[in-house]
Parts: sequence; structure tokens; C-alpha cells
Amino acid sequence: MRYLLLFLFVTVANAGFKLETVAPGVIASIRTEPPGIMFEANVVFIVNDEDVVVVDANGTPTAAKESIAALRSITTKPVRYLVNTHWHTDHVTGNATWREAYPGLEIVAHATARADMAGTGEANRKSYLEAAPVLARRLRNMLEVRKNFAGESMTDEEVAGFTSDAELIERFATEAPGTPMVLPTLGIEERMTLTRGARTIDIRHLGPGHSRADLIVHLPVEGIVISGDLIVSPVPLVGSTSLPSQYAATLEKLIALRPKAIVPGHGPVLTDDRQPKLMVRMLESITKQVAAAVARGESLEQTRKSVDLAEFQRAFAGDSAQKAFIFKSYVAGPAVAAAYDQARTK
Ligand SMILES: [Zn+2]
Repeated sequence: MRYLLLFLFVTVANAGFKLETVAPGVIASIRTEPPGIMFEANVVFIVNDEDVVVVDANGTPTAAKESIAALRSITTKPVRYLVNTHWHTDHVTGNATWREAYPGLEIVAHATARADMAGTGEANRKSYLEAAPVLARRLRNMLEVRKNFAGESMTDEEVAGFTSDAELIERFATEAPGTPMVLPTLGIEERMTLTRGARTIDIRHLGPGHSRADLIVHLPVEGIVISGDLIVSPVPLVGSTSLPSQYAATLEKLIALRPKAIVPGHGPVLTDDRQPKLMVRMLESITKQVAAAVARGESLEQTRKSVDLAEFQRAFAGDSAQKAFIFKSYVAGPAVAAAYDQARTK
């Protein structure tokens, strides 16, 4: 399935994103940081007849302010809804900045994501902030001697990725402590369909995946899905809060919507379904291999060794040492652990 869409690219000077018109009035702010292990999130503006619906809020006030300035350069219409696709900090820390800019705003999330934001999210934020200075210093030291975590010489791609990671950690560590966590004002369970003038905006929970409470935003007329981190490119972001045994089925439902364009939580706009299809195959393989390991009575350490994801690492990371490192950090490590937990508690 291949689609030809005409994209309009506008790179915003000095900001870490470019604006891309996915359909009339649907503008994605796509992050331009090189692939790394730290993230800022893509943001999408859906400009309607009288108002705007925004998807995801950025991970710092500075990034949110840059997104708001970009939106205001496009339209003076007010933002009526801000959707948090899930509770992870890089998608929600900007909530406070968006509410300040648009005080009438409703912030929409899955009802469970709201609870996770206040519970696990707050705890994670605290421990991340404690670890941030040490991690940033370690990355800076590694960059000085150009050696990666394994002690090998860094490739240029690793230098770019780790430099961006250090900058993102430092920015978050500076800004997050003074930023209140503004929680969603509207919690939804399965679906909320907004009709804004001529536009239909279908906000849906398709099932557990990247987190237990992901939302997607579907524009059925335009054929666009804004997926949050359910889909990330080039390397998927499965992560430690994922539910691998249900993730594939959730992605199948997303693929069944037959989108012409997918705006992922991180990475460029996708115009075919190769990435989610490959993710489905990988998640099914992880679930199957881990279940077999658990049935053999293997420990998590043994399971990590017996599960073979080489085919998928090659497919997502190619020959890139940096992308292989991201694959290990966000797929091989945490996804296998999450699948192991799921298989043992079945
Ligand atoms: Zn996430």
C-alpha cells in the first residue's frame, strides 16, 4: 500500500522541528533531533472552522512555547482541546504551557492515563530528575573522548545522537522542576468523537500497547492517524511500560483503519503501513519466544539470551550502531522484560 501525498515542509529556524502539512488544516510539527535515547515529541495542529485541536504537548515549556508560536503563525483561532496520547513526560510536561496560553482549553487523555500521570508519572519524573545530572555528565564525558557506552569509538551518528540526548536531558532537568504537572480535564475510556465544523476527529483507545492507555486520533475523512508512541520510526519505542502480548492486536486495529498517512509519536510522517506491520511481526515473535522461554522455566536473564531478535534489529536498525543501541535500549531490553512479566502473570 503506497500513497502519494504532497507534503509542504517548512523548517522553523533554530527550533528542533519542521512543520509539515499532512492535509489541509492538519499540520504536524515533526521533531528534527537525530535518533537518540531521549526524546521530544511530535505535535499535531488540527485547525478547524472555528478552533484548533492539538495532539500532544511537548516535553518542556520551551518546546511547548515554540510549538505555540508556530501555531500562532498559522492561525489566530483558539485551541479548544489538547489530546495527550499517553502519560509519558515527553508528551505531557508541556500541558502547563498550553493551558497558560489557552486558558479555556480541555486536556483529553485516557482515564487511566490521567491516573498514571499523577502516580507512576510523578514518581518517574522524580527519579529521572535525580538521575539526570549524572547521566548528562556521563554523556558529555563520553562525547569528549568519543567513546560509546560499550567503550567503542563513536560513529558520527552516535556523536549527533548523544549530543542531542545530553541537550534534551539538560533542558528537561533545568525546566521540569519549576513546571507543575497539569492533569487532563477530560478522561475517556474507549472513544470520543468531535465534530468541529466540517471536520470529524475520532479520539480512540484501540487497546493496550506502548502503555496501558494509549489514545490515537483518527481523521476518517482525511485518512490520517496520529498514533502517539504506538508507532515510532525509525526504531520502535516499545519500552518498559508496554504490554507486548496485546500490542500487536492493537496495531492490527490501527492498520485496519487503512490510513493514508500516519503521524508517529517520534520520527517522520509515514505514508504506508510497513512500519506498523513489521512491528506486529516483531511483537508477536517476542510474545511467542518469551512464552516458550517461561514454559521452559527460564529466568529473565536466560530469556534475554534465548530470545532472538536479530532479524528485527536488522530490519529497523540496518548497519547503524546508533540505531542498534536504540533498539537494545527500547526494544530488546525493556520489551522482553515486559513480555516476561506478562507471560508469568498470565
Ligand atoms: Zn511514550
